[in-house]
Amino acid sequence: MEDDSEGLFATLFSKLFGHKDGNLEELILEARQDGEINPTEVAMLLNVLRLGRKQVREIMIPRTDIQCAEVDDPLEEIAQLIIECGHSRIPIYKENRDNIVGIVHAKDLLRLSQSHPQKQPTCRDIMREPLLIPETKNVTDMLQVFRASKIHLAIALDEYGGTSGLVTLEDVMEEIVGEIEDEYDLPRPDEIQVLSDDTIMINGRTPLEEIDDRLGLELTSEQVETLSGYLCELAGRVPMQGETFTVDGKIFEVKDADAKQIHWVLIKPRPKTPSDPEEN
Ligand code: ADP
Repeated sequence: MEDDSEGLFATLFSKLFGHKDGNLEELILEARQDGEINPTEVAMLLNVLRLGRKQVREIMIPRTDIQCAEVDDPLEEIAQLIIECGHSRIPIYKENRDNIVGIVHAKDLLRLSQSHPQKQPTCRDIMREPLLIPETKNVTDMLQVFRASKIHLAIALDEYGGTSGLVTLEDVMEEIVGEIEDEYDLPRPDEIQVLSDDTIMINGRTPLEEIDDRLGLELTSEQVETLSGYLCELAGRVPMQGETFTVDGKIFEVKDADAKQIHWVLIKPRPKTPSDPEEN
């Protein structure tokens, strides 16, 4: 263990066990205020504690974004997909995406390219059993399952047994240490782009919780978790590009949407009307 982290744990242990009451989060925040641990360490410790309160569905890649292939697709096509999308594991479905029956690993394809089997191998010959978990699984438990099973990609299922999303060990680690990118990850535009003091462009996928955390905009819903879902719920359908909504005294303009979801929303102040009270 490094000297620095030894110091961190010594401080924490004395704090944690020296106190009879107070929850862990409060004690960590207290230690930060006293300058005993630095903000990066505080953020990681708090993230670890919060993992236990998160469900897989909050951190997974949604079903529509999963790069997958059909069980009868030729292996050359799957290899081409791996090259194009940059992911090393491809879920394989039978008939439709709700029925994931295996996972093809790039390494297994590579190994195959060096062997000389008698008959032409198919996807069924090399795919591995998928790890299927409920989308409501707690993220701390997910981490344990990844460790115990030594399988680092899982398919999350909804309550009806349909595919809800995909989660990997990297997604869980990112919850603790923040964004991790490898050399194959495509650059992602920032979900929240502050264009000026009062104009913000937000990706439709952004969780409502993050919008509240970062912008203090409290958009609450019992049913949905993203900005796109929120505006769809408000409209009772998927709004079209150019439609606007007034929420919390601000204008939400749909900048980019397709038939299924909203991609980008511009939030700007509502223009003043003569009936608005004068500002001092
Ligand atoms: P890889 O390096 O193969 O992309 P990682 O585990 O490093 O795998 O995952 C990086 C990110 O890509 C994670 O957010 C993960 O959920 C996502 N991901 C991995 N495989 C797929 C896939 N087949 N389709 C869509 N997203 C995927």
